[in-house]
Amino acid sequence: MGSLLARNADVLVTMDGARRELRGGGLYAVDGFVRQVGTTTELPPSADVVLDLRGHIVLPGLVNTHHHLNQTLTRALPAAQDAGLFDWLTAQYPAWTRIDAEASRVSTLVGLAELLLSGCTTAFDHTYLYKNGNSVDVQVEAAREIGIRFHASRGSMSVGRSKGGLPPDEAVEDEAFILKDSERVIDRFHDPCPGAMTRVVLAPCAPFSVSADLLRESAALGRARGVRLHTHLAETLDEERYTLERFGVRPVGWMDGLGWVAGDVWFAHAVHVSDAEIARFARAGCGVAHCPSSNMRLGSGIAPVKKYLAAGVSVGLAVDGSASNDSSNVLLEARQAMLLARLARGLRRDEGEAPAGEWMSAREALELATLGGARVLGRDDVGSLETGKCADFFSLDLGSIEYAGALHDPVAATVFCAPTRARITVVHGRVVVEDGRVATLDMGPVVERHNHIATALARGR
Ligand SMILES: [Zn+2]
Repeated sequence: MGSLLARNADVLVTMDGARRELRGGGLYAVDGFVRQVGTTTELPPSADVVLDLRGHIVLPGLVNTHHHLNQTLTRALPAAQDAGLFDWLTAQYPAWTRIDAEASRVSTLVGLAELLLSGCTTAFDHTYLYKNGNSVDVQVEAAREIGIRFHASRGSMSVGRSKGGLPPDEAVEDEAFILKDSERVIDRFHDPCPGAMTRVVLAPCAPFSVSADLLRESAALGRARGVRLHTHLAETLDEERYTLERFGVRPVGWMDGLGWVAGDVWFAHAVHVSDAEIARFARAGCGVAHCPSSNMRLGSGIAPVKKYLAAGVSVGLAVDGSASNDSSNVLLEARQAMLLARLARGLRRDEGEAPAGEWMSAREALELATLGGARVLGRDDVGSLETGKCADFFSLDLGSIEYAGALHDPVAATVFCAPTRARITVVHGRVVVEDGRVATLDMGPVVERHNHIATALARGR
């Protein structure tokens, strides 16, 4: 793979233990791992690949902790534009059940391209519909082709409408087959080693679409094989009503009873939680994927992110599926997280003006998008730029109009100002975005095919 030198960045944000921000900074990497971070004069003078990043800010690659890449096919779907989660899902299911292997491939590529262009270098995807030949294999191959670090899920749904679940019966799978395929996917793709480009996660969809048995058995299999577990939880008050009516407990209690509140689990959303449930998460060491845009888009509510952080719960950021965002821009999500946390505090008017520590700062939002996400995915080899870590980073052009007038603090500007496209994105020492364009494949034909398939799906074909 060889060596790579990035130099002369106006600022390089390390996210190391001292949170150093280096003026005139750069890094030197060999075979995908950082060997040295420092000011340009301290670094070796040459390498196989040299990136001169004068005028740019360099940040550690962002980590996205929850997505449904196939949903890029049903963005802004007319029937699902103005609806809460359950009605939105019901409007989306018919199109999703027709996604085949080709549709999955192009939508995975489009979503991953968008992530890379927003500075994301490690992405988790939560696909839970495997029909018409779609498979984890299709997505892993797409991720390898485009060059992103990818955590794939063997997601699942097993309780259809006829058994009291939300999804139509044709969207769900047989539980014995789900578990067998989960094992196959772990055998084929899961790489536990430092620097892994592919990992597997077991991810039954949500309390209203899988059975207690499938949750228990997925957890047992995941633990036996050392892979992490993930699901949606406490996203809406509708979900809370569902588990109270059916199981007599709140969503977190339901999961806790099944062994799912634990250190190898992270939940998407976790919006509607009590203080006691936050404390339980902290004791158990489970993580949260915070999806501010999706929570606003679907009117789900505001996750108590500052309370999670104060309690010591790991929080990462996530764009959620592209049908409820409707983008895959992690830098934008950092901005949304900062703004939404401020709104949440502002709505508690009875507590008076918020003291400084209760404001979500731009640097705190960046930390959630990097170190926070890495912790949530169980990785200590990404999220910061330090010797021995993966050479995953991106740069933004500080000469962009969006940053004009904000250069007294370029680090804060990346979150306060409108997000710009990554100029360079490097994953494991490989340049995958160059001059603001995907460098690893020609996206033109992919987008064209994607739009053709999306139109057919929306028309019910
Ligand atoms: Zn989701």
